[in-house]
Amino acid sequence: MTKEITTKLLVIGGGPGGYVAAIRAGQLGIPTVLAEGASLGGTCLNIGCIPSKAIIHAAEEFERARHQAAGSALGIRVSDPQIDIAQTVRWKDGIVARLTGGVGTLLRKAGVQVLKGWAQMEDGKTATVQLQGGESVRVRCEHLLLATGSEPVELPSMPFGGPIWSSTDALSPDVLPRRLVVVGAGYIGLELGIAYRKLGVEVTVVEAAQRVLPSYDEELTEPVLQALQKQGVVLHLGCSVAGWDARHGVHVRNARADEFALPAERVLVAVGRRPRTAGFGLESLQLDMAGRHVAIDAHCRTSMRNVWAIGDVTGEPMLAHRAMAQGECVAEQIAGRNRRFEPMAIPAVCFTDPEVVVVGRTPGEARAAGLDCIDAAFPFAANGRAMTLESTGGFVRVVARRDNHLILGWQAVGRGVAELAAAFGQSIEMGARLEDVGHTIHAHPTMGEAVQEAALRALGQALHI
Ligand code: FAD
Ligand code: NAD
Repeated sequence: MTKEITTKLLVIGGGPGGYVAAIRAGQLGIPTVLAEGASLGGTCLNIGCIPSKAIIHAAEEFERARHQAAGSALGIRVSDPQIDIAQTVRWKDGIVARLTGGVGTLLRKAGVQVLKGWAQMEDGKTATVQLQGGESVRVRCEHLLLATGSEPVELPSMPFGGPIWSSTDALSPDVLPRRLVVVGAGYIGLELGIAYRKLGVEVTVVEAAQRVLPSYDEELTEPVLQALQKQGVVLHLGCSVAGWDARHGVHVRNARADEFALPAERVLVAVGRRPRTAGFGLESLQLDMAGRHVAIDAHCRTSMRNVWAIGDVTGEPMLAHRAMAQGECVAEQIAGRNRRFEPMAIPAVCFTDPEVVVVGRTPGEARAAGLDCIDAAFPFAANGRAMTLESTGGFVRVVARRDNHLILGWQAVGRGVAELAAAFGQSIEMGARLEDVGHTIHAHPTMGEAVQEAALRALGQALHI
């Protein structure tokens, strides 16, 4: 039996984009229905950001214990550390459950009606949601928000299943393989590849480009490359994969077209994600597309009136915080507020070891945009706190206009630098100049002093180098 309901806003997808939009809409008094076919929290909370960071943390702790067992300069003595990976996965699942349960509570508190089921579009104002219990609900809405996210790209020669893992499989291993081949040295391949190495697995990475993390500038990724080599991760750059068989492993082809095999019990394919636009009747709306993703304007409007789209379904950068910011922006516009999605910068953080952060423009991007700029870096090797944390690799770099010192971008690589993204983003959004950061008193001893010193160095006034 199909029930019919009418609402002002229907959100399809309960990931960070969709759930934030729905919470904000509810807070603003907009009657809102949210349909989610899998689990509230979407990719981010269930099979993405949060579980990957939990596994990365567990792997770091295990590696630290092993490092100490091998003899520590700090005088700590540990013997024979072991990891129970099933317990690690249960601990990770506990965090996921706490957060996804919390999203349900927040939606309820905001008065949002959640429909647990897959939505099928009829037109820009009607969708039918097939509820998990078997019934269906036909929802008529004034505004439709598409927040259907993305899914991993599959290699035709190695479809997911069995030993061929997607990131989702790699986040819930039943046992640790002895050897893991990772295809793709991007975000997922390196974040999880490094974690598996720290868990004691022999990791080999195959990457089509000539360097790791090819979307970041080379100066930033150099410390990551060095760390990978030190950690014993084997790299095959400029190589493509041709298939897999259980006897030989992964078939790899290098630039000279020579083929060789990499034996492995498991293969993690992490060659990108694509917007989720098929399988739910979206084609019938005939929205303008930009390549594979739904095209949107600076208001997150699609080509159809009152049909909005946010998050991964709208393409790069496919990041949770971008989806959330867009969701909030759309809810406020539906409530009648004058908003646009035009951030000065969207931070990008790669949780490798060392971590990489990019906010705003790199020196190369600023120069390519025709801007006359200065840039300066401060190494953690000259930072006292970094020494006490045994984390002296990497640096903070700032990019600013030469004429008025307006800060255009920040980049950093090093242990724990992800947390600097907040300071970087705030300085750019608030239109800070080098003097503002250079003359702000930064607490001592902190890694953040490298931020102040980078700004001072750009002004020719560095104190500690
Ligand atoms: P999603 O989170 O993908 O949510 C979309 C939801 O829509 C899903 O729950 C899906 O079930 C639902 N849905 C789809 N179609 C329908 C339908 N027809 N009916 C009902 N429901 C539907 N980003 C970061 O910023 N930082 C990180 O550290 C980070 N780490 C990541 C690690 C991994 C392993 C992965 C895979 C991704 C990571 N990301 C990270 C990316 C981040 O997860 C995504 O950018 C983010 O989840 C996108 O949010 P979204 O709301 O657009 O889509
Ligand atoms: P990615 O785009 O970061 O990296 C894919 C890599 O695979 C690239 O380096 C590419 O050159 C390589 N590649 C593509 N085809 C190949 C082939 N056939 N053989 C070998 N190499 C190949 O994609 P991803 O790592 O799958 O992550 C997907 C998206 O998820 C990211 O773009 C990002 O938006 C999001 N994500 C973000 C974070 C974060 O913010 N920390 C973490 C994980 C994922």
